[in-house]
Amino acid sequence: MTVDFFKQKYGHEVAGLWMPRVTAITSFVSKNNVFWGKSGTDWGTLVHKAVAKLLQGESNMQEPRILPSLNAFLEWQRAVAFEVLNPKEDVERLVVDEEHMYAGTIDVAGMVHGVFGLVDLKTSSGMREEYALQTAAYVNAYNKSAQRTKLCKTRWILRIDQYAKCQGCFAKQRERDESGRVLEGNPLCNHVWGPQQGQVEFKELENHEHDLQAFLSAKEVWEWYNRDWLGKITNYPRKTTQKILL
Ligand SMILES: [Zn+2]
Repeated sequence: MTVDFFKQKYGHEVAGLWMPRVTAITSFVSKNNVFWGKSGTDWGTLVHKAVAKLLQGESNMQEPRILPSLNAFLEWQRAVAFEVLNPKEDVERLVVDEEHMYAGTIDVAGMVHGVFGLVDLKTSSGMREEYALQTAAYVNAYNKSAQRTKLCKTRWILRIDQYAKCQGCFAKQRERDESGRVLEGNPLCNHVWGPQQGQVEFKELENHEHDLQAFLSAKEVWEWYNRDWLGKITNYPRKTTQKILL
């Protein structure tokens, strides 16, 4: 690995400075400890891009494979009266904490039942502990960004899953899972698969301050672990008092 590769894989360049990406740090502390970065057009990327397009008012052709997920999203949007006040500013936006020197890209900030907050979209098969750290870091960076007329009061995880169900035993098979793995149900059943369906799980996360402190501690450990690499990055001051204009 070269320094340039490390910088690209684990961070953002913002106004001439390099800073680590939120997800580089949170995946470091996750039990899976897998960091996929932003590579390829995997399932998660497809769904994220499609939802971002929807929220920005672009309703052009979507990948047919993910339509059940998008329909589940739209149903959720209606159910919680989700509204994005400023689609240009608040969808897939880079946010930066220039005091603690980290950066990340939020999915969306908007109103849920009249409360303004951050919504982080997930396409994983379950909720993960590190989402609490990730979203705390995002909310903190979002609220610190200049010229905010609205501050995020809370954060939510919106997990969108998509699978076909067996009509006999209710086993599940995920479209995204190329191995064809079958979950739950009766292993002796001669499955009859119904259509792909989308399903959402929506959860508010509490204890923002506590989670933010944990994220900042995780960042310190991540920095220690990567100290040799970081020592070679000349435009990473770690902490700064300078105001960065995005
Ligand atoms: Zn079955």
